Amino acid sequence: MGYKLFAVCEKCSFEKQNISFGANRFNYESVCHVPCLESTSGELTVANYLDVDNLNAHMKFYTHSDLYQTKLYALKDDYLEWGRLHLKIHENKCPACHQFTMQFVVKGHFD
Ligand SMILES: [Zn+2]
Repeated sequence: MGYKLFAVCEKCSFEKQNISFGANRFNYESVCHVPCLESTSGELTVANYLDVDNLNAHMKFYTHSDLYQTKLYALKDDYLEWGRLHLKIHENKCPACHQFTMQFVVKGHFD
């Protein structure tokens, strides 16, 4: 079961629906949706973490420590887990204001 997420920034008005993390029970061996930041467009998007052939060098996943900080909430109690991946819930880098004030809110699951 994967997570359906909503991204929202506490500092600016940025928000984005339809973010996903994980995969469904039929494709989890080849697919793992992970939110990422496209550095050329500056956009928050979702890419398949396991599709290494089609990932471009400008994509950085939110599981990377460059895209979150642990000032108020330590990673050990503030994450969603998918296999060996940990997605921090709070203090993610906002693509709009570039502060670490974006949160991934769980809206549901898919499977
Ligand atoms: Zn923001």
